[in-house]
Amino acid sequence: MSFDSGLSGRFHKRSMTGFTPTEIKAIDQSIPIKAREAWTKYAAREFTSPDQLESQIINHVETTLARSMYNCDSLAAYQALSTSIRDKLILHWNKTQQMHTLREVKRIYYLSLEFLMGRALDNAMINLGIKELCCKSTDELGFNLEDVIDVEPDAGLGNGGLGRLAACFIDSMSTGNYPGWGYGLRYNYGIFSQKIVDGYQVEAPDYWLKFGNPWEIPRHEIQIPVDFYGYVSTTTDPKTGKSKKQWQGGEQVLAVAYDFPVPGYNTSNVNNLRLWSSQPTSEFDFQKFNQGDYDSSVAQQQRAESITAVLYPNDNFYQGKELRLKQQFFWVAASLHDIVRRFMKTKKKWSEFPDLVAIQLNDTHPTLAVVELQRILVDLEGVEWNEAWEIVTRTFGYTNHTVMQEALEKWPLDLFGNLLPRHLEIIYSINMQFLQMVAKRFPQDRELIRNVSIVEESDPKNIRMANLAIIGSHKVNGVAELHSELIKTTIFKDFVKVYGAEKFTNVTNGITPRRWLKQANPMLSDLITSKLGSDEFLTNTVRLKQLEKFIDDPEFREAWIEVKLHNKKRLAQLIKKLTGIEVNPSSLFDVQVKRIHEYKRQQMNIFGVIYRYLQIKATPESERAGKFFPRTSIIGGKAAPGYYAAKKIIKLVNSVAEVVNNDPDSKGFLQVVFIPDYNVSKAEIICPASDISEHISTAGTEASGTSNMKFVINGGLIIGTVDGANVEITREVGEDQIFLFGNLAEDVEELRQDHQMGKLEVPEPLEQVFDEIEKGTFGPYDEYKSLVDSVKYHGDYYLVSDDFESYLEAQSTIDKEFRDRENWVKKSIICVANMGFFSSDRCIREYAENIWNVEPVTDQV
Ligand SMILES: *Cc1c(COP(=O)(O)O)cnc(C)c1O
Repeated sequence: MSFDSGLSGRFHKRSMTGFTPTEIKAIDQSIPIKAREAWTKYAAREFTSPDQLESQIINHVETTLARSMYNCDSLAAYQALSTSIRDKLILHWNKTQQMHTLREVKRIYYLSLEFLMGRALDNAMINLGIKELCCKSTDELGFNLEDVIDVEPDAGLGNGGLGRLAACFIDSMSTGNYPGWGYGLRYNYGIFSQKIVDGYQVEAPDYWLKFGNPWEIPRHEIQIPVDFYGYVSTTTDPKTGKSKKQWQGGEQVLAVAYDFPVPGYNTSNVNNLRLWSSQPTSEFDFQKFNQGDYDSSVAQQQRAESITAVLYPNDNFYQGKELRLKQQFFWVAASLHDIVRRFMKTKKKWSEFPDLVAIQLNDTHPTLAVVELQRILVDLEGVEWNEAWEIVTRTFGYTNHTVMQEALEKWPLDLFGNLLPRHLEIIYSINMQFLQMVAKRFPQDRELIRNVSIVEESDPKNIRMANLAIIGSHKVNGVAELHSELIKTTIFKDFVKVYGAEKFTNVTNGITPRRWLKQANPMLSDLITSKLGSDEFLTNTVRLKQLEKFIDDPEFREAWIEVKLHNKKRLAQLIKKLTGIEVNPSSLFDVQVKRIHEYKRQQMNIFGVIYRYLQIKATPESERAGKFFPRTSIIGGKAAPGYYAAKKIIKLVNSVAEVVNNDPDSKGFLQVVFIPDYNVSKAEIICPASDISEHISTAGTEASGTSNMKFVINGGLIIGTVDGANVEITREVGEDQIFLFGNLAEDVEELRQDHQMGKLEVPEPLEQVFDEIEKGTFGPYDEYKSLVDSVKYHGDYYLVSDDFESYLEAQSTIDKEFRDRENWVKKSIICVANMGFFSSDRCIREYAENIWNVEPVTDQV
């Protein structure tokens, strides 16, 4: 039963704490006495003991799964346990939604084309506080809980940082008792799985729904028709005589809702993540079928289903494919319809819409929502244009994620107008009104007008989605201080002129400490809990600061080292399983895992590894131990399938690994590993196991980064450039706790210009590395020529030559400092103690206060 079906608000008996006496009375009067009694009995079904859970698991195995306990494998155990927990979640979820509806609270709608959720089971047990209980039950049924957890495939509905941010945010919205909804797409295929064959990346489809998905609730009753193509008709209102525009769609598909309950930690609040799946409308194919045109009716069906078939695998890169624009509109139209429908049930005036609805645009992907809301208000609801526009701009906020030109969305005008003819007209009107305002205030400034226009007057013309997002929102934010300053002075500087700087703000990214500390690193979490006397730091991370008191406690430091070693052994096991390579857990683990991108500079990392290898070989055997601390270089990440340079970097890493790991000269001093198929569940093993992690993007290119936070909160130090959130991490943990190097963002443009003018010096160590690659040490040079040439002859856009020496210097400082274990442990503790700021709970609080104007809704009344 859906909470917003006609029966909503009825069955509440199991817990009354969330409602005021008046609310309870109102609900009671609407329920027949018998139903109330039945519900009270039903509510007792929520398990609270291992025994009760066991019988629910057995029940699900035997009935829901229609299998017997006699041949219950770990897949069935996973499905039955998950379904039992899901049942519990749904009860809490119904109550939460009823409360929000009854109280008519303002809701947050987080629109993101990506939600990189990873696994759900472990997280649900932790957030509900029932992991021990579950462990007892599975034990008694003959299953090891950790093995059961491992059965679950990752929900890989995202590419990297942007999608993972959305996942952390919905966790924090639930935990902070905010009435928040996520809206996204239910891709049948998530991010591809990466295989490494002969050192090359090979992509395999990720059919993550193969065994069904116990965490989703299909809502077949929520089907929203979405139109594409067609034409715009003009009619005259017989009463007013005014002309009215109406879009007549040419192709229709259905959006079907799938709901994922999102539990908060230590609260009964359960929010909803609603993902849309595309389905053909029945009339369409039926007609053709009757005409005997079976083939084309099937083709039509497949065309509809293809909309949510796959996630586009690009990270920080725009590719103007029509199907992608279709995905965007499909998702936005269904979500807005849903949001508007929920608002209309309150019977409030349209002018009150922004008092009940805040919509956040995660990047420009959902920007069409601005236009669609204006269309709904003006074309369908008859709201006057200016009033509608006021409602729209008060509703939306826009989060920018990059300043890189190649990542900014621009849709060719003709492609856009063909798919969404009425939306194009509305954009023209929005643009005209906006540009008239600008022209009035800045007469003569033709350049300004050209720059802020939604339409790029190029050939062919483009719709600039970022411009539309800014104009359609009341706030624009970047995701780290440096990034938020950069957008004001570079890509959006003209908008600062028009709107003033107040429209632009910053919300530095964060991560959820539940997944990235407690779930990923239970040993460290337990150690901290025992020292601080409570686990309050999991919801109030600034409490971590108290750890500094114990910094000189030798027992505590010993335990801290113990935890790190345990986590390194755990990663060593994973590496062995995935690659067959046995790494030394007492070596320094140097980790760089993230999407492979030239701006993230994995090429510089591997060039540095080659340099270290050459240095080791050039050192007489007897002197090696004194000069080099044993190190394991671990690199992982996916390359977009069409990204040639990124794929070359992967191949080079694997070839270097092959050579280094088999050379007796470097044995005991250097190992190199490429971890295939980096994803969230692997990140949970990798992040707690680093001594050093690398966040070495060209200054000014990484908007924030979030894996930097994951590593540091787990006691790893970082080597990094003065970029993204590294800047704020440095401020929080102190300069002594971080290894910074390289040119600053403010110098990048000039250096690039110098290179363009032919001014480029390859430093001697890098020249050595290039010579070695050219010699064919790592395989035929042809394979890597493009990587070398990009630095030497193509302007070195990412400034590898400029930063290489200071990178090496920072690395050798690390070598020296790591030998002093006591000092290193101190730094590690100081880091964790000062990471409190980087909780996504803090992000959500800032968004709620400064952008959404939304308050938490708690049980207490
Ligand atoms: C956190 C995370 C990212 C983001 O990593 P960055 O280093 O910040 O780019 C990407 N992928 C996965 C699986 C993650 O967990």
